[in-house]
Amino acid sequence: MSYCVNCGVELGAGVGKCPLCSTPVLNPRAPIDRDAPPFFPTRHEEVEPVSRRMAGLLLSAMFASVTVCCGVLNLIFYRELWWSFFPGGAAVMFWVWFAVPLLFRKINAWYRLTLDTLAIGVYVLLIALAVHGLDWYLHLAVPILLCAVCVCPTVIWVVKYRRLSILSSAILVLLSAGFLAVAVELICDLYLHDAWLPGWSLIVLISCVGLCIPLIVIRRVPSLREEARRRFHI
Ligand SMILES: [Zn+2]
Repeated sequence: MSYCVNCGVELGAGVGKCPLCSTPVLNPRAPIDRDAPPFFPTRHEEVEPVSRRMAGLLLSAMFASVTVCCGVLNLIFYRELWWSFFPGGAAVMFWVWFAVPLLFRKINAWYRLTLDTLAIGVYVLLIALAVHGLDWYLHLAVPILLCAVCVCPTVIWVVKYRRLSILSSAILVLLSAGFLAVAVELICDLYLHDAWLPGWSLIVLISCVGLCIPLIVIRRVPSLREEARRRFHI
């Protein structure tokens, strides 16, 4: 058995040069045999990419096993409380989020979004029912969820279909996050205090606006925009 002096790869008997780095092989004990079968396979093959369907099935099996295991444990421990319902519900919600797009590839983006939102809504509703919290569900969870559902897809749609630059997209995302924080605090305040008492959300909004200002300046000044493009490839 001999090895290439340059790259160290194992050499077949009678080869004239290294199959990897083409360094000539000079071995008086093993003369070159041009008719010897190739030591390494000559055909290049690629590992097949993981099928999306298989990945979806694997994820489904993982989430199903979590749900079943929690259910069985619940029957053994703390039987007076149906605690397995919470991890089980979360597993179903994650299954809708991650496994459904892999299993049903041609599903429309808007249907997916509706399905994802419904999964969150139903899961939170079931928790609210379990803890007798229908009031906070209707006046707190549903409005916050609706706000997020209105803002996030709009931002994604504008960025994707208007083909915004990275700078413009960052400005839009930051401003949307700021105003979403204000809306969330407004909903919480109206539910808890029946009045708007702005606090943490204004700090978030001001921080987002503060971050946007230099981005807007860079976007407006051609020399700065070119410098940013060169330095950060944007
Ligand atoms: Zn070599």
